[in-house]
Amino acid sequence: SLEQGPEGPETPIQVVLRVRPMSTAELRRGEQSVLHCSGTRTLQARDPSPLPTKPTPGTWVPSSNQICPRPRPPQGAPSLPSVLPSRVPRPPPGHARTFFCSFSCTVFTFGQTGSGKTYTLTGPPPQGEGVPVPPSLAGIMQRTFAWLFDRVRYLGAPVILRASYLEIYNEQVRDLLSLGSPRPLLVRWNKARGFYVEQLRLVEFGSLEALMELLQTGLSRRRSSAHTLNQASSRSHALLTVYISRHAAQQMPPVDPGEPPVGGKLCFVDLAGSEKVAATGSRGELMLEANSINRSLLALGHCISLLLDPQRKQSHIPFRDSKLTKLLADSLGGRGVTLMVACVSPSAQCLPETLSTLRYASRAQ
Ligand code: ADP
Ligand code: MG
Repeated sequence: SLEQGPEGPETPIQVVLRVRPMSTAELRRGEQSVLHCSGTRTLQARDPSPLPTKPTPGTWVPSSNQICPRPRPPQGAPSLPSVLPSRVPRPPPGHARTFFCSFSCTVFTFGQTGSGKTYTLTGPPPQGEGVPVPPSLAGIMQRTFAWLFDRVRYLGAPVILRASYLEIYNEQVRDLLSLGSPRPLLVRWNKARGFYVEQLRLVEFGSLEALMELLQTGLSRRRSSAHTLNQASSRSHALLTVYISRHAAQQMPPVDPGEPPVGGKLCFVDLAGSEKVAATGSRGELMLEANSINRSLLALGHCISLLLDPQRKQSHIPFRDSKLTKLLADSLGGRGVTLMVACVSPSAQCLPETLSTLRYASRAQ
C-alpha cells in the first residue's frame, strides 16, 4: 500500500546515494571500480593501486541512515523513493482529495557529469519508437508518474494535471515546452505566488502517455541544445514540475493565463554537473562568484543546510541568491518534502569528484 503512514524520516530533506555501474568506456580504459557498498549505510573506497589492498573503511560513513547507498547498487533502477509513498500522510477519511491536492514533493539528482543523474530520473533513453523501456529500468519520474495515475484512478479524483519543464542555463530560464523557439524568461515574485516564471507554458495532460511525451519533448530539446551550446545539458539545471489541482479550482476567480493552480506539486530537478564546484573550491571565492553553475549549486547547498540546521530554523534563508533556489523556495521552505539523490561513478578516476559529491550530500544531510 502506498499510504502506509507516517513512518517516514523526521527531516523534510532526505539524502540517498546511487552508485552507477562501471561504464563500458571506463572498463575499456582499464579503470578500476573502487567503491564498495556494504549494507545500506556504509560506502568504502578502495585504494586504487594496481595491487589488491585492503579496503579503507569509513572513507565516507553516513552519520545517520538518511544517507545510504541504494539497496542493490550498482545494478538495478532505484525503487520509488520512500519519500513519496511513506512521507505523504494518510488522509483522514473523506479528505482524500484534499490530501491529494496539498502536498509538494521535490526530487533532485546531484553529481558530476556522467554520474547517472539524468538516468536516475528518467531511466535509459528509448531504444526506438514503440520499444518500451523495461519497468525494472524505469527512472524515478516514470515510477512516480505511474504512482500518480494510480492514485488518480484509485480516488476517482476530478483533478487537473498540468506540467511545466524548464532549463536554467547560465542563470537564464528557457522553456523546454515552449511552442516557438525558447526565449529567456523572467523570474518574478509576488506576494500571492512567491517566485514564478513569467510566461512559462503549462501543459494540461490526462494520461501517463501524454506526460511521458512531454518529458521526451523536453529531454530531446535539452539534448539537441547540447550540440550548439557546448554541452549545455550538463551545465544546465532542468526542472520538470507536475501541478495537481482539484477541478473546483476552475470555479475560483479567473487567474493569469499560465498561473499554476493551487494544489499539489511534484518537482524533478536534474542539476547541472557538479564538477566545477570542486575545481573552484580549490581556487578561491572569486571564480566561484563568476560561475553561475556554482552559484546555483552552492546557493542550493547553503539553503538546504540552513533549512536543516535546528538552531537556525527561524533565520533568513537566502533563496534569492540564484534562480534555482528562487524557483525551489516554496518546495524547500514550505510544506514540502525533498529527496536528494547523490549520483557517483565507482571508477577510481572519479574518486576526487565522488568525494566532493559526498561532501555536498553530507552537508545537506
Ligand atoms: P549525467 O546525467 O549525470 O551526466 P547520465 O545519466 O547521462 O549522467 O549517465 C551517464 C551514462 O551512464 C549514460 O550512458 C547512462 O545510460 C549510464 N548510466 C547512468 N546510470 C546508470 C545505471 N544506474 N545503470 C546503467 N547505466 C547507467
Ligand atoms: Mg544528464
